[in-house]
Amino acid sequence: PIEAVSSNSSKLPADIKSVLFTADEVRDKVAELGQQICKDYKGKKLAIIGVLNGAFIFTADLAREISKELPDVQVDFLRASSYGTASESSGQVAVQTTSDLGRWEEFHILLVEDIIDSGHTLARLGKVLSAAGAQSVKVVALLDKKGRRRVEFFPDYCGWECPNEFVVGYGLDFDERFRCLPYVAALKEEAYAGSGH
Ligand code: 5GP
Ligand code: MG
Ligand code: MG
Repeated sequence: PIEAVSSNSSKLPADIKSVLFTADEVRDKVAELGQQICKDYKGKKLAIIGVLNGAFIFTADLAREISKELPDVQVDFLRASSYGTASESSGQVAVQTTSDLGRWEEFHILLVEDIIDSGHTLARLGKVLSAAGAQSVKVVALLDKKGRRRVEFFPDYCGWECPNEFVVGYGLDFDERFRCLPYVAALKEEAYAGSGH
């Protein structure tokens, strides 16, 4: 069972070094962020847009939390890729949308991101969405590696500051592995040695 794994390091998958944020802590944090967002967007048309693939679980959980107070919240996704299989941002961010961004003209957009690292992804996405003519564009990130910024970027809502480790779980992958762990964990250095992080 999932709960038994989350706080017992002897049962972690082989490449996992340690749990940074347990499944319980993540659940409480998502509830807290959701409640704050509901307060701030009360009476407004809100669309939350998850950044694929890493934010798919966070977006789903946050959407359900927000819809308790704001049942009309809309959900969409877009894809941003700069990493490939390496773990260092190239600075080039390719954006793929799943729908015409013009549809958000009357909406307040909240971008949902798993983790901010160099800042390149969100700096670029902020520009793309602002150009689409939405009422406002803000960002919620579950994790923020503040120390690794290459371009200035400040999220409007943030779960936790993240230590300078390569982290996986709760949507975050290493080479497509570990996305479905219910907690956020640090990967062992030897697992990603040579991948550029
Ligand atoms: P940025 O453009 O801010 O450098 O990169 C943000 C993206 O890099 C995140 O959305 C995520 O996909 C990836 N990323 C950054 N740090 C980590 C990490 O520690 N673990 C994983 N799995 N992805 C990361
Ligand atoms: Mg991401
Ligand atoms: Mg990834």
